[in-house]
Amino acid sequence: MPVNRADVAIVGAGILGLAHAYASARRGRSVVVFERNAKAEGASIRNFGMIWPIGQAAGATHALALRSREIWLDVLRCARLPYLATGSLHVTYRDDEAAVAREFSELAPARGYDCQWLSAEAVLSRSQAVRAEGLRGGLWSSLELTVDPRSIVANLPRFLSEQMGVQFRYGCPVRSVALPRVEAGDEQWEAGQAIVCSGHDFETLFPSLLREAGLTRCKLQMMRTPSQANGWRLGPSLAAGLTLRFYPAFAICSTLPALKQRIAEETPEYDRWGIHVLVSQTEQGELTLGDSHEYGETLEIFDKAEIDRLILDYLATFLKAPSLDLAQHWHGIYAKHPTRPFVSLSPEPGVRIVTATGGSGMTLSFGIAEQTVSQMEM
Ligand SMILES: Cc1cc2nc3c(=O)[nH]c(=O)nc-3n(C[C@H](O)[C@H](O)[C@H](O)COP(=O)(O)OP(=O)(O)OC[C@H]3O[C@@H](n4cnc5c(N)ncnc54)[C@H](O)[C@@H]3O)c2cc1C
Repeated sequence: MPVNRADVAIVGAGILGLAHAYASARRGRSVVVFERNAKAEGASIRNFGMIWPIGQAAGATHALALRSREIWLDVLRCARLPYLATGSLHVTYRDDEAAVAREFSELAPARGYDCQWLSAEAVLSRSQAVRAEGLRGGLWSSLELTVDPRSIVANLPRFLSEQMGVQFRYGCPVRSVALPRVEAGDEQWEAGQAIVCSGHDFETLFPSLLREAGLTRCKLQMMRTPSQANGWRLGPSLAAGLTLRFYPAFAICSTLPALKQRIAEETPEYDRWGIHVLVSQTEQGELTLGDSHEYGETLEIFDKAEIDRLILDYLATFLKAPSLDLAQHWHGIYAKHPTRPFVSLSPEPGVRIVTATGGSGMTLSFGIAEQTVSQMEM
């Protein structure tokens, strides 16, 4: 059997695999990406497409998100892929929500976040999609971007292949990595380095290492509307009070525990299913809605109507859109570490496993990949 050769072999054509392919090819390496399915079907095609620096923990993770966003913009422009520079609004309807958003707007700029508190009037002038009744105001951030994950997963490989010479092998599961040998489908490869971005598959490659790393899986339910009529635009991606208790960025706020306690007492069902509610819009006008968080090694196959209902009920408290009829329901699964924003392991010389980006893999992917590739050069 002929042996093929590449400088770098990458496992997985989700966003992390693609970002590592880009970072490696930029440094002049020959790269091959193996994807077990006919197209990447994991978390990277199932998400909101939000590049979301505002949610990232203050310090190194937030700085990584900002760097990642810069690279995303370069890539999107070079690849001529559409994106929306929407920014984001966290809207508040209760005093405790407004307290957290206001406190964040006071503390966060000194920590490198570009955000500000807006009065109710100012929120409404930025977004036609926000309900006015009871609105206290909102947290505005200009940096969030929205991409369509379906377009990224389909078209970024084309750019990497045509413009950067990256080879793709779809329908080609990697069975073993023991450098220089990489066995993938019925192909034999030799590679100088391997980067394993296999998402929430902890069983196929380096299973004992992944088991020991303390990772878990998380299932999220999502929905999508058809394109909104008459070109209606959402404007900034929207989040509300429930989200303030979800993203680690808001942990710097002393007012956060009281908000969490009130939500836990008043609406325990939202805590039970880990629901916070976000809405983004694709270029074609569809609204992407979600989500919930159910954690565990093994996850329920079937989606829960109750979760969809809770998401839609909460959405109706702050979103005013022409239609919330649904076109699609699905769920996604990501890998997560209980405390770290992502996990990078070196099982043997020349091999990296990069996974467990949790709910921020779209945001962090290109920044992580730049770090990995420069560390592997040392
Ligand atoms: C519903 C949902 C909403 C989200 N929203 C956002 C968001 O708006 N913003 C954000 O920043 N993040 C978001 N995330 C998180 C983000 O989507 C993930 O962190 C990210 O997509 C993980 O990328 P990945 O490449 O590691 O994994 P995946 O996308 O799951 O890709 C892994 C790939 O590896 C392949 N593979 C596995 N094993 C092998 C093997 N042995 N051989 C060959 N191929 C293999 C799989 O088939 C798969 O295609 C969301 C996640 C979900 C599920």
